[in-house]
Amino acid sequence: MNEPADGIRTHCPYCALQCGMVLRQSRPGTGRRDQGAAAPVTVDAWPQFPVNRGALCGKGQSATELLNPAARLGTPLVRDGYGTALRPATWDEALERVISGIRSVQAEHGRDAVGVFGGGGLTNEKAYLLGKFARVALGTSAIDYNGRFCMSSAAAAVNRAFGLDRGLPFPLADIAETDCVLLVGSNLADTMPPALRYLTQLAERGGRLIVVDPRHTRTAARADLHLRPLPGTDLALALGMLHIALAEGHVDEDFVAARTSGFAAVRATAMEYWPARVEGLTGVPAHQIREAVRMFAQAPTGMVLTARGSEQHSKGTDTVHGWINLCLALGKVGRPLSGYGCLTGQGNGQGGREHGQKADQLPGYRSLTDPVAREHTARLWGITPAELPGPGTSAYEMLDTAGTPGGVRAMLVFGSNPVVSAPRADHVEQRLRALDLLVVADVVRSETAELADVVLPSAQWAEETGTLTNLEGRVVLRRKAVEPPARVRTDLEILSALAARLGRAEGFPADPRLVFDELRTVSAGGPADYAGISYERITEENGVFWPCPADGHPGTPRLFLESFATPDGRARMMPVHHRSVAETTDERYPLYLVTGRVLAHYQSGAQTRRVAALRAAAPEPYVEIHPSRARRLGVLEGEPVTVTSRRGTAVAQARLSTEIRPDVVFMPFHWSGPGRANTVTNPALDPVSRMPEFKVCAVRVEPVAAR
Ligand code: SF4
Repeated sequence: MNEPADGIRTHCPYCALQCGMVLRQSRPGTGRRDQGAAAPVTVDAWPQFPVNRGALCGKGQSATELLNPAARLGTPLVRDGYGTALRPATWDEALERVISGIRSVQAEHGRDAVGVFGGGGLTNEKAYLLGKFARVALGTSAIDYNGRFCMSSAAAAVNRAFGLDRGLPFPLADIAETDCVLLVGSNLADTMPPALRYLTQLAERGGRLIVVDPRHTRTAARADLHLRPLPGTDLALALGMLHIALAEGHVDEDFVAARTSGFAAVRATAMEYWPARVEGLTGVPAHQIREAVRMFAQAPTGMVLTARGSEQHSKGTDTVHGWINLCLALGKVGRPLSGYGCLTGQGNGQGGREHGQKADQLPGYRSLTDPVAREHTARLWGITPAELPGPGTSAYEMLDTAGTPGGVRAMLVFGSNPVVSAPRADHVEQRLRALDLLVVADVVRSETAELADVVLPSAQWAEETGTLTNLEGRVVLRRKAVEPPARVRTDLEILSALAARLGRAEGFPADPRLVFDELRTVSAGGPADYAGISYERITEENGVFWPCPADGHPGTPRLFLESFATPDGRARMMPVHHRSVAETTDERYPLYLVTGRVLAHYQSGAQTRRVAALRAAAPEPYVEIHPSRARRLGVLEGEPVTVTSRRGTAVAQARLSTEIRPDVVFMPFHWSGPGRANTVTNPALDPVSRMPEFKVCAVRVEPVAAR
């Protein structure tokens, strides 16, 4: 496929849809830009890219504003001592401060005292080189990334059930062609608007949509049936649906016998979730649960799609198993136009977990504890398996213990803003302040960068080339359209320079194509096999689906049609039970808080809060509260209220809405300062995925004047 004469085909800097767009030069670029120069590109549609067909949400349309010098970091910054302000520095000074700090911490506390915190928005090349940098150049086991906060529960469950974790095991376009979609804990209308066209096409074909969400969102408004469970009870709902499916004879016994294992135990557990009990646990009327079961079971084909609403819980992994069990029992997995899928959120949420920045994984989605995988990777990295560190602690655990004996004493953060995005954020902020050395590489001066000892300004999406893997498992190529500012470097250049100063001049190239070629080689033979994917093929074919193990291989848009990736080829059904949320309501904290996103902002808001149009569309945080509850509390529309949990208090304006349950309040999590929702959220972890319970905690809401 040739480039348009006056533009460059690339992809949005934000979410996991990775919408295609064309960047057109508004004036010729002539080398690295001066600090005062405006971004010389504009966004245009790329109608041929199959995922979004030219459609972009407001974030994508305004993305070039991120390139303007006023919105971003333009030079390295260093802090001379505690309590002093960050000041501009040369790259040489900044990199030397990083290296001397690392050496000092490792000499005193050992190699694992230096931690690396990555991001689900980093390109595949960056995620790969960051993992290699941590384990080879730093020799530390302490690496994890903010994807732990995103889809780790779904990834853990899918790996156990199917033997291979790819968010969607089918292309998004299949959603339009199936007969029934059960969408759980996802507000696509606000998070990925261009994907709504698949639900529109589904409806036009007569397909049915069931939405499970405590809020009546714009997505739920499109549903044929909307179930509104109490937060933290999705697993009980899934078990209750399976109970009814068993009782009413909807189970596909032939499929279960031929393609699954473990059904007897799952059947036994589901029998304990009779409709009246599930109605009591979830608050969803039993007749609605029956209607949902019949709608889904009687559809010839169907899908369950989950997102953070169902996954960000201290039982997130078991909850996803509950939905997978339901799909398997009804024979709606491993067949065309049917399946379970996770709607990943971050831009490279899928690829970010495949290439080695996760605490327990090596590139190619191999396990860090598998001796064969360790041998394979160590050999290609030029070290011995004994030199390859073992698994480290998860993202929240690394933050929670930072600066304490036994925790990391220095941390390098790439492309993440945990001061806003981590749970119990006040505590996380304190822990980061306690570090001997905090280094942040980012595009913008984020809240986390404000705490750093050294800030390294990174190039961003349109200023560099690299691949990302969207929520379908389609590997796409973001292409450089403009030079970065003169004193800004790419993350690959930063890692390469740091590795060289640590005595690893070899093996850390700054050229993304060289890194991708190495990634292909290292991933070969692994679960996420990229060996046959090249920049040229991605360009020619509008992306390539992994696994793609050889040059001539067509890629794999649909998984599991013949067998699952488990040793016996069968999907594993896992017996799981409902359990309470980690923190229940009581007299002092009588309401449940759920958090989520709004249309105008992305993740911690570090980028989107700097874009004028997005800031104007959603200038500040708010607390959504039901009018009946507001009346009882003396809360008025637009007035400031406090939201207090056992961990802290956030302040935001009240927004009265009948679209939320009276026993639940909602806050978006994109803001810092007094309106930071994550000041309040609960870091209770899922025992398998180590996902914090972002999605539910007990709070009280009060008018500010009443405190
Ligand atoms: Fe970008 Fe996501 Fe919006 Fe598409 S839906 S334009 S990828 S933010």
